[in-house]
Amino acid sequence: MTVRRVSIFGSTGSIGVNAVDLIARTPDRFQVVALTGGTNVALLAAQARTLQAEVAVTAYPDRLDDLRAALAGSGVAVAAGADALLEVADRPTDWVLSGIVGAAGLPPGLRALRQGATLALANKESLVCAGPLLLSEAARFGARILPVDSEHSAVFQALVGEDIAAVERIVITASGGAFRDWPLERLAGATLAEASSHPNWAMGQRITIDSASMFNKALELIETREYFGVDPGQIETVIHPESLIHALVGFRDGALMAHVGPPDMRHAIGYALNWPDRLDLPVARLDLAAEGPMTFRAPCATRYPALRLAREVMAARGLAGAVFNGAKERALDHFIAGRIGFMDMAAMVAHVLDHADGAGGLAGAITLDNVQGADHMARQAADDWLGSRG
Ligand code: NAD
Ligand code: MG
Repeated sequence: MTVRRVSIFGSTGSIGVNAVDLIARTPDRFQVVALTGGTNVALLAAQARTLQAEVAVTAYPDRLDDLRAALAGSGVAVAAGADALLEVADRPTDWVLSGIVGAAGLPPGLRALRQGATLALANKESLVCAGPLLLSEAARFGARILPVDSEHSAVFQALVGEDIAAVERIVITASGGAFRDWPLERLAGATLAEASSHPNWAMGQRITIDSASMFNKALELIETREYFGVDPGQIETVIHPESLIHALVGFRDGALMAHVGPPDMRHAIGYALNWPDRLDLPVARLDLAAEGPMTFRAPCATRYPALRLAREVMAARGLAGAVFNGAKERALDHFIAGRIGFMDMAAMVAHVLDHADGAGGLAGAITLDNVQGADHMARQAADDWLGSRG
């Protein structure tokens, strides 16, 4: 088996730590080029030593001295800041796994595609903001994007050997998040701690809260459209509290192919790191009889307004995805900071979309400049809305 040169962006996060775990188990398969992270330079340095990375980069220049000290004598080069993140993305690499959270993942992801790397993409926000740009750059530079989100990995696997033209529908499942069984009237008072605990998956805090509000599923509906090019009307979501089926693909002959597995991101990460090979992965093997029933129900539109907003965004196209994501990220910042309530997040995003629509801000070509401009405008409009409420 040939050795793959691989970089991990966001190696210190939930996705990144799982990716490092998998790579450390198969050191003959991978040669690590760059690891990048944020403030947790102790973890970043430990990972870089374990994997003997060529370079470790923190996004924050004020953390560089600590990173340098932690890696003294290791032979691992160090760097810091946004430009350094782009510079390491330019280094020739076979595979890049991007586990950066948020729109900040877009510029390094684009740079990785431009040097022809296969981009294993957990950073769904970049596809929501700029899907057509990522896909056209991948085509232009002979690069490839592989999904790491569990639902999209599941769809991708169900489509192996199939003709996308034979697909009738794609169903992505949702756990329903922390509040799926709460009475509706309690949601407005949900606290940060309550929203930060997921019933099935262990993930970073931001995506965990987005699972409770289903903004995560809203992003994933858009992500499905971008990856697989199907019409929004062909994409469905269903609540499946057991989180064992990750997605289903329905074909024109009525067949429905499901991807089943335990809620462990190492499956999707490992599949994308090893693709097109399937290698041994340390995920639990399901004992279906012991698991018991799998249940499904339709998501309630009142409980999950984010799903309706995602439909509006898909209909609007253009820069609507970037506006939606920017507003969502800012609303989440405000919820985490205790400035708005749980249900205010959807109200804030809806307001920003209306505001941008009224100002002509949803239309426009999907260039990096336009996407970053729309993202900035959306965050500003979210703050203005908050200010106007006093
Ligand atoms: P996390 O918060 O645990 O980790 C985020 C990583 O990105 C960290 O390494 C952090 O240092 C880095 N980072 C944060 N801000 C940055 C910036 N401005 N510039 C550069 N790096 C920055 O997040 P996570 O839960 O691992 O999620 C990562 C991505 O994967 C998100 O897009 C998320 O939606 C997606 N995803 C996560 C899971 C999961 O199981 N955690 C599942 C599916 C998809
Ligand atoms: Mg997912």
